[in-house]
Amino acid sequence: MVVGVLALQGSFNEHIAALKRLGVKGVEVRKPEQLLNVSSLIIPGGESTTMAKLAELHNLFPALREFVQMGKPVWGTCAGLIFLANKATGQKTGGQELVGGLDCTVHRNFFGSQIQSFETELPIPQVVAKEGGPPCFRAVFIRAPAILDVGPDVEVLADIPVSAIAIQKEEKVIVAVKQGNLLATAFHPELTADTRWHSYFLKMVPEIEVGASAIVSTSTTT
Ligand code: GLN
Repeated sequence: MVVGVLALQGSFNEHIAALKRLGVKGVEVRKPEQLLNVSSLIIPGGESTTMAKLAELHNLFPALREFVQMGKPVWGTCAGLIFLANKATGQKTGGQELVGGLDCTVHRNFFGSQIQSFETELPIPQVVAKEGGPPCFRAVFIRAPAILDVGPDVEVLADIPVSAIAIQKEEKVIVAVKQGNLLATAFHPELTADTRWHSYFLKMVPEIEVGASAIVSTSTTT
């Protein structure tokens, strides 16, 4: 079986390249029937309103929801996280359709617009770093969302202090979670050379055997 990567818009090529570095084949998914041929799915970052419009045009939402509900592993990065959330809030959330399944509220563009995009070193969660490597990973936030609250079944993998950012109540916001078959990150591991997040996702896919060991350099590739 191969890993599907939703290829409507956004950083799907970068995800396929990261999978390739681990010796795993990623295939582009654009049509509902293509989901039948993949064991798991990555929903990349991009622009979630555009991605939602294209998904609607291709009649993908029912098949995506079924895929999630069947318990197949799905990883959403950035816009992909927004897709998976049960609820999206924040500016420019114009009632766009969501796949849902991930019991959380996500705030779109939480960190601001394109110009407020940033990179930072975050501690690598222990479960993700089982292979070893540096204690931190390079987290690339591009018009990034943040998770404001999570349900009881959601495991928080990473958060980030927001003291520099003007929000009233929390000192930290959540930027990576896992809930059963679902993984979601507000940042873009596919834009770095560090494949530990991809390795971690692949471990959620029983059929996949990772051919290469994870590359743990933390430099960004784009
Ligand atoms: N904030 C964007 C959105 O709402 C997502 C940004 C990203 O995927 N890099 O779609």
